[in-house]
Amino acid sequence: MISIDLSGRTALITGGTRGIGLAIATSLVRAGAAVAIAGRDADRAAQAAATIGGGAHGFAADLGQPGDAQRLVDRAEHALGSLDILVNNAGLTRDNVLVRLKDEDWDAVIDTNLRGAFAATRAAARGMMKRRWGRIINITSVVGITGNKGQANYAASKAGLIGLTKSVAKELASRNVLANAIAPGFIDTDMTKALTPDAREQLSAQIPLGRLGTPADIAGLVAFLASEHASYITGHVFVVDGGMVM
Ligand code: NAP
Repeated sequence: MISIDLSGRTALITGGTRGIGLAIATSLVRAGAAVAIAGRDADRAAQAAATIGGGAHGFAADLGQPGDAQRLVDRAEHALGSLDILVNNAGLTRDNVLVRLKDEDWDAVIDTNLRGAFAATRAAARGMMKRRWGRIINITSVVGITGNKGQANYAASKAGLIGLTKSVAKELASRNVLANAIAPGFIDTDMTKALTPDAREQLSAQIPLGRLGTPADIAGLVAFLASEHASYITGHVFVVDGGMVM
């Protein structure tokens, strides 16, 4: 059995107030890391940090707003001393069929999911490069690989994250800063709660493992990628979807 030891490491997880981000933060704390999480609302972020435990910090930041990602990384570095691991997890959907997709819904999704991740990565990269150690883990989606009806904005943002991951991996490898992406399939969180029981059943029938994933299914892989066990892995996209997209 391999054990994941992140003691002495520091991590920032964007969008750690619930769902996948909350599970990631919890698993990194259990592995010994000191963490900070962020969401749009200060009280929600503080509450989530208390739930995570281990002295986790909770910050308010709207990744869709220019400047917030840089400020968030600055605050996390100040609170944690430095930043070893950045998990770009914050994400939102504004679904609509192409012909009805409004400019503001395109912008909100691209700004948060893609530009926010870029800005946080740029801000965190400096310290990581200087210390010759860093892990950037981007939470993309299977729809960034396959596309999806009614999600042109979301799929484009998630495909963009894959390009960002690979470019950052190539650019920062010489400084021992590794960048990888995880592409979840359907995971049981607030993001998928709108599915009716019927839709859920139909969906599960198309998944070889016969169920939606849990946030813990993603969190375990993040902890592994952040650990020394993954020190020779960079520039890859790991699909975690119960076998849905092969
Ligand atoms: P969720 O339950 O809706 O949680 C989204 C998280 O992102 C929350 O912590 C939210 O924080 C934060 N967030 C949203 N917009 C933000 C903004 N503008 N600035 C800062 N934080 C923001 O979603 P989830 O299912 O856990 O998804 C987490 C990530 O996994 C997302 O990137 C999503 O695209 C990806 N993903 C999810 C699935 C799935 O099936 N669930 C599948 C593939 C990929 P506040 O609301 O507190 O601000």
